Amino acid sequence: MSSLFPALTGELPGRVALRFGARALTYAELAAAAGAVGERVRGVGRVAVWATPSLETAVAVVGVLLAGGAAVPLNPKSGEKELGHILGDSAPGAVLAAPGVELPGALAGIERVDVDAYGAGAPPDDRLAGDEDPALVVYTSGTTGPPKGAVIPRRAVATTLDALADAWRWTGEDVLVHGLPLFHVHGLVLGILGPLRRGGAVRHLGRFDTEGVARELNSGASMLFGVPTMYHRIAEALPDEPELVKALAGARLLVSGSAALPVHDHERIAAATGRRVVERYGMTETLMNTSVRADGEARAGTVGLPLPGVELRLVDEEGAAVAAYDGETVGEIQVRGPNLFTEYLNRPDATAAAFTADGWFRTGDVAVRDPDGYVRIVGRKATDLIKSGGYKIGAGEIENALLEHPGVREAAVTGEPDPDLGERIVAWVVPVDPQVPPGSDELADHVALRLAPHKRPRVVRYLDALPRNDMGKIMKRALPT
Ligand code: ATP
Ligand code: MG
Repeated sequence: MSSLFPALTGELPGRVALRFGARALTYAELAAAAGAVGERVRGVGRVAVWATPSLETAVAVVGVLLAGGAAVPLNPKSGEKELGHILGDSAPGAVLAAPGVELPGALAGIERVDVDAYGAGAPPDDRLAGDEDPALVVYTSGTTGPPKGAVIPRRAVATTLDALADAWRWTGEDVLVHGLPLFHVHGLVLGILGPLRRGGAVRHLGRFDTEGVARELNSGASMLFGVPTMYHRIAEALPDEPELVKALAGARLLVSGSAALPVHDHERIAAATGRRVVERYGMTETLMNTSVRADGEARAGTVGLPLPGVELRLVDEEGAAVAAYDGETVGEIQVRGPNLFTEYLNRPDATAAAFTADGWFRTGDVAVRDPDGYVRIVGRKATDLIKSGGYKIGAGEIENALLEHPGVREAAVTGEPDPDLGERIVAWVVPVDPQVPPGSDELADHVALRLAPHKRPRVVRYLDALPRNDMGKIMKRALPT
């Protein structure tokens, strides 16, 4: 196949490709540094990358990909148990890390290769690698269970990035503001490999903060990729930070993904800046499935249309396709296309269970479709679809309604067994002021007024914070029982 990164050996060697704080690499420097890594890991196969938010991580992953290997990004904040699971499962032949970084004991038996961000080697020719060769083994976020290693072929990386380029009018002129970790699809594939495939630039903030977003967007950056917790912080900060308002108002594209963007935050950002955040929906296993287009309508609570090349259908509990475009009839999202992974590593059982006989991937996410085809995600089949009193109720719309209450900072909705209703709706609420939390009747009425009486929470439980993973996703399985 053609190279994943034509710009690396292309016509713009002096253009800055990556910037992390005060350190930057041009395309020529990146090609040389990744070439040096490639020389060290050629033929190793799976290569772990100690994925701190750094130049070295980007150089390491590009080096592995150019050498035709598969990178296994590791979360440096993983506990020993999770790390042990991932290393035992993926059995990497080497681990790449920035010089001087101390690695935990779990990595002791694996050959360490230091990544010199300013190294000099000849960039290997990755056109020799096959389309179906694995490019990455990325572990899922572990939101619903232990992380599974998704084997992502080079074909999926190339097609998803090109589909996004089409949907977002993403070019080499774009400069991305990045504040995400580099061991998931969002931060690594979209946030690093995406700009490099286009010939554009990345400015990584190290740690996300609203000042950094304002500074970069006000000095030439054009796009922002974030998770909903970042847009929540932005929404909260806008009233006090005029520079941030200016930054967002002037950005070419603001993109949110990895979890549902609360409608309340979407609307507050739109009201303050005149800009609507574009939502896209993807998974480790499928890379990107749907997105609002750059010139399309960014309707709050929706993730837009299937990306070019992606087939998407909704399927009911009997396995029949849902034909309705009524914004109401729910079905599980199934997808098919060149964006899909190959398999879960060492999990033929899980792989087989994830696909239908005719090759559709069962996402486990439930959605409805608006009349114009826009997909509206209701939530995960396992945790977010509550069957109560003969109704199927999505947790997401109740969470959105709760978040509109001025006394609610965070909200999660679950179902629990109920002798009369089958399941009853439980709201987990983090109050703005723990001294005077909004009462349960008040919250139930607030929801019933906005949605429908049968969607009112029957029980409200108050917490100091919701359990979240490193992407800010709410981990409902970790709520107290
Ligand atoms: P695990 O599979 O280990 O339980 P995970 O599903 O959170 O964890 P990821 O592959 O990182 O791991 O996340 C994919 C999931 O994130 C999707 O299945 C979907 O539930 C959710 N998601 C991603 N983007 C969106 C979005 N824009 N709106 C709503 N949900 C989203
Ligand atoms: Mg998942």
